[in-house]
Amino acid sequence: MQSHSVCAGTVMPHCTLKERNVKDTKDSAETLSFKTRLKRAGFRLKMIKDRTIKFLRCLFNTPSPIPVEAQIEITNKCNFTCPMCPREIMDVPSINMDFGLFKEVVKKLSAPPLPPLQKGGQKGVKDFILTGWGEPLLHPDFFEMVDFISFINPDARIRFTTNGSLLNKDIRKRILNSKVEQVSISIDGLNGDGATGEGHSESKRIIENVTALAGERNSNPPTPPFKKGGQGGFTPSIVFQSTIHSNNLEGLKKLIDIGGKIGIDRMNLVRLDVRKTVSLRRPSIEDEGRIFGKLKKTGKASGLPVFFINQQGMLLQMAGHFDRLCFRTVDHVYVNVKGDVTPCCNLRKMKMGNLLKDDIEEIWQGKIFKKFRANQLKVCKGCDALKRKHHH
Ligand code: SF4
Ligand code: SF4
Repeated sequence: MQSHSVCAGTVMPHCTLKERNVKDTKDSAETLSFKTRLKRAGFRLKMIKDRTIKFLRCLFNTPSPIPVEAQIEITNKCNFTCPMCPREIMDVPSINMDFGLFKEVVKKLSAPPLPPLQKGGQKGVKDFILTGWGEPLLHPDFFEMVDFISFINPDARIRFTTNGSLLNKDIRKRILNSKVEQVSISIDGLNGDGATGEGHSESKRIIENVTALAGERNSNPPTPPFKKGGQGGFTPSIVFQSTIHSNNLEGLKKLIDIGGKIGIDRMNLVRLDVRKTVSLRRPSIEDEGRIFGKLKKTGKASGLPVFFINQQGMLLQMAGHFDRLCFRTVDHVYVNVKGDVTPCCNLRKMKMGNLLKDDIEEIWQGKIFKKFRANQLKVCKGCDALKRKHHH
């Protein structure tokens, strides 16, 4: 899924797609409820705290003692064939991670130093992202995986990114009753099927699915400041994750408008990686800035916050050592379908160790990872997913 590189309410039985007409769900900037404002304020506070810690780690180039965030490649199977997706070029195997292997991986990530493996109290990775180069909801054990993480590591935050096509009523209900804290939907516009012609496919069905998910979540939110919803789930944030292409400004504006009306939480913009597919063109860095400015404006009018990691202020530029350091290298690991630990999804074959054999602490603080961090600019070969400037 191109743009990941860069993720309880109770289901109301009466809340059907037909009944939740987008035009009927007025939740614009002026009519945001107190609860929504409080939730967004809470998100911003947490974001400020996390960013401050990350800022200091990056600024002093001091990785966390063990990774804070682990992205696990639970599957590389996908029901889409987006033209911009580099899975084939990257030779990504179209397979699922074995559930037994997944359990070992989660244990290793959750309880260093090993054991005791008991409920609660462990120190370990805090953010789990169940997304590889495929559609996570295709994994037959997806919800068992979520349950397993929250059993082993009850404080963990779990999120995933989906193309939105499989969010049917049953799946939505399971999400809303699970410990998933964030669902990101990769969608790049709203110009009709095929949107940009190169990005994530957009279809009426996906918008209907997300509209229903947002409606079902919003119809029974928890009472702030508590996160737990009616049936023990975690009322997940719902986020549009959208890639900026050279021709999807209007589509993204429409998407923001819809997002505001149906009451999702925000849009995260992602820069298009054009290194592997020569036919792809992306806007210049100046145009990216202009597009972001316009989308932010649309977001303000529609009540949907819009973020873009590549448009960095001076503080973020300093934290990234003016594009010499990638923010992922201080607290993030990627675990591929074989259990190999690598620096990120773009470097999924760059093995730093394997969680069936090694502990995460040894891998994270080992020689291979240190060497990678010291040479990242060269090794990452022009990747600017989280950089300010274009590097290719
Ligand atoms: S949804 Fe598209 S971009 Fe994401 S993994 Fe599938 S084919 Fe690739
Ligand atoms: S710069 Fe390197 S570590 Fe960062 S996302 Fe790109 S390939 Fe991964």
